[in-house]
Amino acid sequence: MIKSPLDKYQRIEKVGEGTYGVVYKARIVATGEIVALKKIRLETQEEGVPSTAIREVAALTELDHPNIVRLLDIIHQGNDLYLVFEYLEQDLKKYMDKLKELGTPFLSANLVRSYLKQLLSGILYCHSRRMMHRDLKPQNLLVDRSGNIKICDFGLARMYSIPMRSYTHEIVTLWYRPPEVLLGSKLYSLPVDVWGIGCIFAEMSNGKPFFKGDSEIDQLYHIFQICGTPNETMWPGVSQLPDWRPVFPQWRPKNLAELCPNLSPNGIDLLRKMLTYDPAKRISVKEALSHPYFSE
Ligand code: ADP
Ligand code: MG
Repeated sequence: MIKSPLDKYQRIEKVGEGTYGVVYKARIVATGEIVALKKIRLETQEEGVPSTAIREVAALTELDHPNIVRLLDIIHQGNDLYLVFEYLEQDLKKYMDKLKELGTPFLSANLVRSYLKQLLSGILYCHSRRMMHRDLKPQNLLVDRSGNIKICDFGLARMYSIPMRSYTHEIVTLWYRPPEVLLGSKLYSLPVDVWGIGCIFAEMSNGKPFFKGDSEIDQLYHIFQICGTPNETMWPGVSQLPDWRPVFPQWRPKNLAELCPNLSPNGIDLLRKMLTYDPAKRISVKEALSHPYFSE
């Protein structure tokens, strides 16, 4: 009998189910090492999976950074693609949900600072390779008991050459989506990740999501109500974006310090720079890492 490369792994339990795949906790039979096995169903195609897709996924095995979940192996079998990752205890969403149940919803100031620094380091590593994540959110960040946080769910869903089939009808969360994407810009780039990290920063220190919209327009209005309705002065070109409407209600910006009472003045300054409307003026990951907030 021909042994399948999958026989190397023994599934233990299902740990997650995202938009495109199921994730299992599994064991490498030979060594006992625990890994995460992500099964992705590919769209059935007569020609099979394009080789460009396989090459694109293979490039992810080269990402090697302490704050990026390590991709250890790729197995392609029929219409399924299996990705084997290093295993981490839980994602940040589950961790924050647990804290909420315990009645201590927000993370300590030191943990927020440490997680933010680690996230920025991981994203700097990607951005310096001209890769963006585009879907940063607490469900895509994994944490362990030693205070490490690692970015997972890299790129796959955003690789155009990969014909993936939606696994669940789970609604894609809009809470971390930047205004340029919500307004229909097609030319967005690395600053999209900075906006997402800003939202996560505020959420970690407040213990609840910062902009909690339930539709694209509701999401925009949540942002406008906190950051003020944007205009040509603060964001040149905004009124030319495809989904901009001159009839948007006018809101004045709120005081971030009142909305994030657990953040220090430096923390507020950094958050404001990450949640800057104009992507060209938004702080870069590199600049963020040298912000005085990290030397407090
Ligand atoms: P999707 O593309 O479907 O969103 P993800 O890679 O985000 O898939 O994984 C879905 C969930 O599975 C995550 O939110 C997390 O809870 C869990 N998970 C993913 N990777 C790992 C891992 N390496 N270790 C532990 N849990 C993981
Ligand atoms: Mg995910």
